[in-house]
Amino acid sequence: MRDIVSPESARWRRFVDSFELIVGVAGYELVIPPLLEDIGVFNRLGEATDVVTKEMYDFVDKGERHVALRPEQTASICRSFVQHRPTTPFKAWYSGPNFRYEKPQRGRYRQFDQVGVEVLGSLDPYVDIEVVQLGWSFLASLGLSRVELAINSLGEPDDRARYVAALNAYFLERTNELSPESQQTLTRNPLRVLDSKRSEDAAVIADAPLINSFWSDTAAAHFSTVCDGLTAVGVPYTIDLKLVRGLDYYRGTTFEFRGGTLDSAQNALGGGGRYDGLVADLGGPETPGVGFAIGLERTLLACDDEGVFPAADQSADVFVVDVCGGSVALEICTELRSLGIRTERSWDDRSMKSQMKSANRSGARFAVIIGEDEDQSDTAVIRDLRSDAEQVSVSRSNLAPTLKSRLSSLQGAV
Ligand code: AMP
Repeated sequence: MRDIVSPESARWRRFVDSFELIVGVAGYELVIPPLLEDIGVFNRLGEATDVVTKEMYDFVDKGERHVALRPEQTASICRSFVQHRPTTPFKAWYSGPNFRYEKPQRGRYRQFDQVGVEVLGSLDPYVDIEVVQLGWSFLASLGLSRVELAINSLGEPDDRARYVAALNAYFLERTNELSPESQQTLTRNPLRVLDSKRSEDAAVIADAPLINSFWSDTAAAHFSTVCDGLTAVGVPYTIDLKLVRGLDYYRGTTFEFRGGTLDSAQNALGGGGRYDGLVADLGGPETPGVGFAIGLERTLLACDDEGVFPAADQSADVFVVDVCGGSVALEICTELRSLGIRTERSWDDRSMKSQMKSANRSGARFAVIIGEDEDQSDTAVIRDLRSDAEQVSVSRSNLAPTLKSRLSSLQGAV
């Protein structure tokens, strides 16, 4: 678990703001679930899910309740839906940290942030299309261009069950050729063997049966509408019939956004799919659902690799140097800040030389200097710290308007 410090912290905020802009215009409402839930909420994610069985931060609280820090937010949104019963279709977005006891490495942390959406209450394939398109547009809005969308369908529950049985039989026949880790996975969840990136497993996985032979007509028609819709709105995708995703609750459409610059073991920037049974599992009415989560840290790593969505410059616009005790700096800072001008100053009544040093170090474009003369004549000196232009003296009442217009003409020039 890490501290996120400046300027990265501001970049995180901007990341979430950008997400809100995209999902806000599509009518998604913010839900802020608690960080901690009854463990039962997450147990519904599936007994064969590592996130639940091995990675949860769970404990018994002082009231003898078995609780857990959330490992993801879809289950919390569904629990919240069951509790508040909003009208359907219910379109929600969220952002915030999740906790998983994983082996930390680049792109994998024990506390990590996600942004995501969920739509509850409709089986319409056009909802799947909308959701995938939103994720795609968001990643594109960050400037990422090397993202690939992989998409699959796990079919209807019966299709999925028949496929899992066939897969299990196939892997059991060739179990000796699998890595010890995949042999272990096979006992818990044959689907997840398809996720193995180990070279020993590659040949066995290559010949494994594919889900599309198990799709019902309904599942096949749904998937084909989703694919056609994505093509129609210009979202490029690859069909990956071995894409299963980590969480057990998925059925029907599943998808993953992969970062082209990242190491293949950690290249999923985000993913999602349909989870039509989850709300009912949590005690609510049968309610279909579809959504995705995008990992913030990993997506920012992809942005670093592609040189897009940089941390914004947080330097001040103006640095006030006041060698007359500091009270004039207080007034000037108050006035300039109220106009939205980023204004800094120094403390402790330091010398002109030392304050000018701070001004230069601050990255501010202009220094406003108050010496004895300026204090007495109610004027101020403006010095451009990044050009050789002559400094100018202005009346105090003219200071803010002058700075404002000089800063905006500089902005216009960028
Ligand atoms: P999941 O909830 O497992 O479907 O993950 C969705 C996305 O969240 C992934 O594609 C990652 O970007 C991110 N993610 C999941 N687990 C971690 C982790 N331990 N550290 C960092 N990011 C993660």
